[in-house]
Amino acid sequence: MATENKALITLFGATGDLAKRKLYTSLFKLYQKGYLADHFALLGTSRHEMSDEEFQEMVLDSIKDIPAKDGEAEEFSKHFFYCAHDVTKPEHYAKLRDRLAELDKQFGTEGNRLFYMSMAPQFFGTIAINIKKQGLLTDDGYNRLVIEKPFGRDFDSAKKLNDELSQTFEENQIFRIDHYLGKEMVQNIQALRFGNPVIEALWNNRYIDNIQVTLSEKLGVEERAGYYDHSGALRDMLQNHIMQVVAQLAMEEPVAFTDDDVRVEKIKALRSLRVYTPSQAAANFVRGQYGAEGSQPAYRNEDGVDPESGTETFVAAKLMFDNYRWSGVPFYVRTGKKLADKFTRIDVVFKKPLIDIFANPNSGNEQALHSNVLTIFVEPKSGFALQLNAKHVGQGYTTEPVDLKFLQSDSAKKESPEPYERLFHDALEGNHTNFASWAEIAYAWKFVDVIRNLWDIEKPQFPNYTPGSMGPAAASELLARDGRKWVYDLNK
Ligand code: NAD
Repeated sequence: MATENKALITLFGATGDLAKRKLYTSLFKLYQKGYLADHFALLGTSRHEMSDEEFQEMVLDSIKDIPAKDGEAEEFSKHFFYCAHDVTKPEHYAKLRDRLAELDKQFGTEGNRLFYMSMAPQFFGTIAINIKKQGLLTDDGYNRLVIEKPFGRDFDSAKKLNDELSQTFEENQIFRIDHYLGKEMVQNIQALRFGNPVIEALWNNRYIDNIQVTLSEKLGVEERAGYYDHSGALRDMLQNHIMQVVAQLAMEEPVAFTDDDVRVEKIKALRSLRVYTPSQAAANFVRGQYGAEGSQPAYRNEDGVDPESGTETFVAAKLMFDNYRWSGVPFYVRTGKKLADKFTRIDVVFKKPLIDIFANPNSGNEQALHSNVLTIFVEPKSGFALQLNAKHVGQGYTTEPVDLKFLQSDSAKKESPEPYERLFHDALEGNHTNFASWAEIAYAWKFVDVIRNLWDIEKPQFPNYTPGSMGPAAASELLARDGRKWVYDLNK
């Protein structure tokens, strides 16, 4: 049974792409399920002038494809209000303050305020500071801040932003969105690990040889070129999404499944991530940029991209954790655009038996057994598979790899909330489990800054991979030099 959340949401960036594509649809689904009902309202803001009615029309248009009961969408839209506002003008906040006070009374939201920043990151600090200075905070219920990515461009800018946010909000009031943490199978990592002794007992350097995380995109930069060219794969994907996934794979079991306990363990894991020296970083990171393919332009020739751009559209890295559980086990990660397919998966490669009794060197079969591999399919399919060795059916005795597989059905996947719905719900409930804490972000930036500083000085040899491949050859060499291979490899 859904419990109703009483909340007054202030949305900065209410006419933006994210709001229209993800936020209103997520709120509508929460409304349909009863997590939001009579006692909620949203005050949208952006620079455009618009009436409440026009804003409600915009919201209705955003949710028009979601099946709904008669009149449900219209009822929902009546909870939406609008106030034109330039976030850089302190005097404009007075309008918001007065409107919020009215809406709080009208909808009985009991002083619960959630501020959602869905706009360009250069405004985040200014908004936070003005929320307090101009009296938008409540003394009655809660004050929470939900903030979009990116959280800084490096450690220094992230720290500056965090210091600005901290002038208004305590750490436990801040919800930093990383939508990968809203994905079903990313959340499932913890159930899989801590719910199954058969897995967790082997989850260490005695049994695991290496772990691989791949976030592969098939598309290029599309309409995000302007933003992407100033960001690149390292900042856009590795520093946040990949580091969050890796932290869940590497963390120790929390004392209890509460947000505080999970957070403590993720932070501890990231503290033991080896921060490379510049020369180690150069050896353990690979960057790439896609070239042209047939009629498709090279990255440098995409609209909105600098024709001499040195921005990486691919990154791979080897991460090492210096702690008792993981010492000696590499975590290989990679992500890129215009790769072979769109998918996210994690491959946990177990060590082979010390002795392979099924090998038959006399017949040229030096190694019969394959590694056991646990694959977590994050998307588009959701589930996991465990590769085991089994006897090949038939006369004689040879072994072959077989899969124990669980894939979520299409109907289960349809039922599963989208990341933004899940995360909005968690923020309304005040649950931080699936949000990134400042300490996690700080460790991730410190790790990433070393290679970024190096790459910013050294001119890359771009382009260096073909669309439809799995990135530059150096990404395979990163593993080959350790005697290993990517489990998902087109060249098998
Ligand atoms: P957008 O450019 O589409 O929208 C920005 C919004 O901010 C608009 O409503 C605009 O009117 C408003 N705005 C701009 N300047 C303003 C000012 N001075 N005062 C008041 N309002 C102002 O951006 P978006 O794509 O919706 O992204 C919003 C945030 O979400 C960004 O932090 C982005 O990185 C993040 N994000 C977006 C996506 C996506 O798919 N669009 C995905 C992940 C994260």
